[in-house]
Amino acid sequence: MSVSSVRFVVLKFGGTSVATAERWRTILEQARERIEREGLKPVVVCSAVSKMTDLLGRLVGEATIGRHAPLLSKVRELHAELARGLGVDLEAAAGAELAELERLALGAGLLRDGGPRVRAQIMAMGEILSTRLGAAFLAREGLPTAWLDARTCLVSEAEENRSEAHRLLNATVSDEADPALAERLAKLPEPCVLTQGFLASDREGQTVLLGRGGSDTSAAYFAAKLGAVRCEIWTDVPGLFTADPRLIPAALLVRQASYGEAQEIASMGAKVLHPRCIAPCRRHRIPMEIRWTNRPRAEGTHIVGGEKAGSGQVKALTHKKGVLLVSMETQGMWQQVGFLANVFACFKARGLSVDLVSTSEMNVTASLDGSANMLDDATLEGLLADLSKHCRARLIRSCAAVSLVGRHLRALLPRLGSALAAFEDQPIHLVSQAASDLNLTFVVDEDQADRLVRELHGRLFDAKKLAEETFGPSWRELLAEQGPTPWLPANRPAWWKERREQLLALAHERGPIYVLDPDSVTEAAAALQGLPVERVLYAMKANPHPGLLRLVESRGLGFDCVSPGELDRVLELFPRLDRARLLFTPNFAPRHEYERALATGATVTVDNLFILERWGELLAGKEIFLRVDPGAGRGHHDHVRTAGPQAKFGIALADLERAAALAQRAGTKVVGLHSHLGSGILEPQSWAQEALTLAEAATRRFPGVRVLDLGGGLGVPETPSQSALDLKAMGQSLAAVRAAHPSYQLWIEPGRFLVARAGVLLARVTQLKTKGEVSFVGLETGMNSLLRPALYGAHHEIVNLTRLEAPAAVTAHVVGPICESGDVLGRSRRLPACEEGDVLLIGTTGAYGRAMASSYNLREPAPEVLLDAYRPASAARGSPGQVAKVSTSSGT
Ligand code: ADP
Ligand code: ASP
Ligand code: MG
Repeated sequence: MSVSSVRFVVLKFGGTSVATAERWRTILEQARERIEREGLKPVVVCSAVSKMTDLLGRLVGEATIGRHAPLLSKVRELHAELARGLGVDLEAAAGAELAELERLALGAGLLRDGGPRVRAQIMAMGEILSTRLGAAFLAREGLPTAWLDARTCLVSEAEENRSEAHRLLNATVSDEADPALAERLAKLPEPCVLTQGFLASDREGQTVLLGRGGSDTSAAYFAAKLGAVRCEIWTDVPGLFTADPRLIPAALLVRQASYGEAQEIASMGAKVLHPRCIAPCRRHRIPMEIRWTNRPRAEGTHIVGGEKAGSGQVKALTHKKGVLLVSMETQGMWQQVGFLANVFACFKARGLSVDLVSTSEMNVTASLDGSANMLDDATLEGLLADLSKHCRARLIRSCAAVSLVGRHLRALLPRLGSALAAFEDQPIHLVSQAASDLNLTFVVDEDQADRLVRELHGRLFDAKKLAEETFGPSWRELLAEQGPTPWLPANRPAWWKERREQLLALAHERGPIYVLDPDSVTEAAAALQGLPVERVLYAMKANPHPGLLRLVESRGLGFDCVSPGELDRVLELFPRLDRARLLFTPNFAPRHEYERALATGATVTVDNLFILERWGELLAGKEIFLRVDPGAGRGHHDHVRTAGPQAKFGIALADLERAAALAQRAGTKVVGLHSHLGSGILEPQSWAQEALTLAEAATRRFPGVRVLDLGGGLGVPETPSQSALDLKAMGQSLAAVRAAHPSYQLWIEPGRFLVARAGVLLARVTQLKTKGEVSFVGLETGMNSLLRPALYGAHHEIVNLTRLEAPAAVTAHVVGPICESGDVLGRSRRLPACEEGDVLLIGTTGAYGRAMASSYNLREPAPEVLLDAYRPASAARGSPGQVAKVSTSSGT
């Protein structure tokens, strides 16, 4: 084939799409298909394996204080694991690159230099390493593949007034066609080319980065330069959705979008596409596709031309956090010439690009987007100083932009009216309607963004009324088809191994401390939202830490409260919470608590005939749930089995007829039946069986019932011999119940499952003792912090975090300082030889750990902190790739 007749296709694979051998098999198959079926030359553009760029960002910081070794070994270990999975020799494929990374880290330490240049060089190594391993794998599988250094193909452009950090970490590249590059790649003898996303070089040959998430844009540049027939973005969701599917499981797949719509969706915050990746393809009319690496045959989203066609339609709701507003006020602007020119010149001089603007007689407000700007304190202070010559300027921080995206929105406005009621009682800092008529944006307080998107989505997208050619299945439906998600917490290595250095520093600084990992909670929430249930409520007694509650709320879960204190906490944090997401399920509580709960608007669960008999007037005209005792409890210990003749909870099945009569006499409507069998249940069919019992009771006695609330109790393995709860089997059995009883909604109320794995307790060794055959390792805290071992004989993994790699050398009881012989956190544990001051980690303590702690012996229990989640650059105020370190939110 002559060089000029070679046609290219670009396939970009994101972080999770290159993280396992299984995903690389998909890459191999897709590349082969493009060659064999379409006669194309695939240019495969890859990200670093997921979270690697964050890890390398942290490595820069550690390296400058000479502490690169632990993170470096982590980087090596993660790639060694991938290499093992791929059947590739790590040293042969990537030994030289790992050595280079070490040299870079050593250099950063010696020169105390963690500046943008070093940062770019170190962070670039993630993509270099993943592609080195991938190329070795593809070649071994019989697909000859050329490994191409993207820095030799993409050269960044000079941008006026931009800071050095911006130039090096958030670079842009020309999207002109590049026939020389096309010829160079066409001439490569290998049928497949593999290169890196995210990387380019500047004119001096220095490594530069394209901004966080920039691999999509690399793919678009390659497609534009090579005149590719298509640019495919392969990721961890099947396409563009009507909202972030991880936030809104009911979000619908958008089958087709125009370049203009996709551009708006990406610019306004949908992380699935990097904001700069549309323009190059649009300019060269290269069709784009978003595809799901987990399921290559799934249909995906097609992005093509044809913006003008069709009537008005909202395609998606997006939200962008970390938006910063600059409010500029002046008396003198009215009819004045040049005011806007003057103030915008200040932005230009500081190299800041403005996103949204609104003006009134006395005020101009502009928004700055963190993904397009380096919003460091020095730049912002400089800007304010410059602006002060023309107006009174101030910053409004912690805002979010919530946008409706779609075509001809102006024509739609009359129909949007009722949906916009979601903004009632909500301070709106800025409204902007794009001149392109493709987006309508509201800038609001950041903590309201998730709620607003959720409410608007419910109001705007009714699957039954939408055109099938434009909107496909919901994320929830797609997940149910595919079984449990591969990133279920049970399948992942413990998070704390990745954060070891941070945890050690925390324990040394703060003494005994509970630490919570936000990512584990969001992952567990996503896994639960994949079940075929209408609502997931968090049983907050497991852990009422405010930061954790915020996280849970942001994922769309509701709350199950068992006391007025819990109700108060939820309502203090979320005064505007939709009351349909709030349940009050107390037991033997005094009458006034029911009164209070009813006044808040929460749904009350009644679990005793006594209440219906004696306090019936309280419930008149209300809709309530009844808690039913199906007759037998389940769970890991007698104390946590909450059903059966001896349990104090619930109304016996035999008493339901009476309950129905009493409810009727009281004038109350039973709309839900609830039951909860116990805690730590690992048999997946339990909830379906319970649902059938409740469905039968509802059909026979309670015609008004809409909801079967199956309670919680979803277990998390405690001992190494237990296997994880099989969520797929649980989902299948619940789906069968739904098919048999389609008129009931199913709800669940997990506590432990959501948060247990997210938490660890850290405590330092105080003393060591050996008495005859028995050894003890003493810790600075004990049953006052963690009661579960003493109360239930619960097993928690215990490791010496200081000496994680050291082999086990002793068998010891791990004990606390409390004057109780039951103050034992772990019996006969195998540990390395411990020393005073070593930090021991007690695992799986996110649920019922700090929540059950006491000050027994007047020893304060360990406080609890929530680590910062990684925030993408668009949300961070610092430089891209910067990861929040040990900053923590307050404990309970
Ligand atoms: P990759 O590592 O493959 O580049 P990203 O994490 O950058 O993947 O982007 C995919 C993520 O984008 C999804 O997991 C999803 O949570 C998020 N996302 C946000 N908004 C949307 C949306 N409207 N449609 C699809 N995905 C979205
Ligand atoms: N690895 C880079 C990042 O995490 C680029 C990308 O994945 O798109 O930001
Ligand atoms: Mg991405």
